[in-house]
Amino acid sequence: MGLTLFTHPSYDQHKMHEGHPERPERTQAILAHLKETGLLKDFKQRKPNGVTETALKRIHEPAYLERLVESAPESGLAFVDPDTHLAPGSLQAARLAAGALEEAVSLVLDGDVKRVFACGRPPGHHAEHDAGMGFCFYNNVALGASAALAHKDVERVAILDFDVHHGNGTVDIFKDTPGVLVASSFQHPHYPHRYFDLVRDHIVNTPLPAGTDGPAFRKAIERDWIPALEKFKPQLIFISAGFDAHTDDPLGDLHLDADDFAWITRLIVAMAEDHCSGRIISTLEGGYNLEALATSTAAHLKALTS
Ligand SMILES: [Zn+2]
Repeated sequence: MGLTLFTHPSYDQHKMHEGHPERPERTQAILAHLKETGLLKDFKQRKPNGVTETALKRIHEPAYLERLVESAPESGLAFVDPDTHLAPGSLQAARLAAGALEEAVSLVLDGDVKRVFACGRPPGHHAEHDAGMGFCFYNNVALGASAALAHKDVERVAILDFDVHHGNGTVDIFKDTPGVLVASSFQHPHYPHRYFDLVRDHIVNTPLPAGTDGPAFRKAIERDWIPALEKFKPQLIFISAGFDAHTDDPLGDLHLDADDFAWITRLIVAMAEDHCSGRIISTLEGGYNLEALATSTAAHLKALTS
């Protein structure tokens, strides 16, 4: 099973303040590890084009998109929220990271590829319809899902999010769109404290107390995600692949390891084989311990291609 991996050198131009955890070294560490382990040569690498305005406007309010462009600085940093800043190269990186999802959807729906990993920055799942937050500007995974739904043959897509933080932006964007199943596991209570208790048939929230380990995580996912997916029968599956639920991550307090990320990926692959001819588009969200991020991503990609 081949995998198409989207990367772009311009992601490195999105640099927030010194010491910010969402930093260029994240994707650099992943790519270096994939190279060292020999995995990278098995993937087809692609550089994304920038996202189209049409795709952005499907998920974000035009006034918010204009605000972002207007506030992009020529030097220094502009604050979007206390943790989220625009540097001079940030919006270009964000447009490429979102563009990777738009392009991935075309590739997969055209039947050219079945598995994609978008190894991009900035991440996206906290970005809501009209607001950036939590290191996110454009909601990459939501942009992909809405691009898929714009295709005449696609009525149901699933977004599965195992980042340690709740995918509030994705829920915000699709809360009234029953054609998108959003299943999110997350530490609770924890940032972002939004939408975690929203009850809808197509919104599956799996809150996990701090200290949750691999076996308890697997049990919760089997309990919540499998029946929801069996019932929903997605035609395409997206993954918000955050690796900050790793036990060594500085931003979370869950105790998963690389084997747990391999496990959940195998489960998603099995679901995709059952329902959507194995079609999966995964995109990087969080993960802030560089070594844990690199080994967990490698485990995810190995399982995604097996
Ligand atoms: Zn996160």
